[in-house]
Amino acid sequence: MPDTRAKALAYLRDGKVLISYALGAGDDRKPRDVLAYVEGYRSTHLVRLTAGRWGCSCQETGCAHVAAVQLVTGHQSAAARQPAAVPAEAVR
Ligand SMILES: [Zn+2]
Repeated sequence: MPDTRAKALAYLRDGKVLISYALGAGDDRKPRDVLAYVEGYRSTHLVRLTAGRWGCSCQETGCAHVAAVQLVTGHQSAAARQPAAVPAEAVR
């Protein structure tokens, strides 16, 4: 959902995401317990990851608040990421 991703990136760009804690990283370096705050347009939303489930105080499924926190904590799947730019001088 590109619109959600664009909103998530905007939250990050504008410094609206505050990670309170991100604990319990396993071998994949992804934290198992996350608490974060995302400053929305009308109110600040609470985003949590507990027991493998993401939740947000806005109650919407697949909201941009969760997406933003997933991006910072490494939970966004690689497939959803934009392809990395290839350096022009990668090959001499
Ligand atoms: Zn939300």
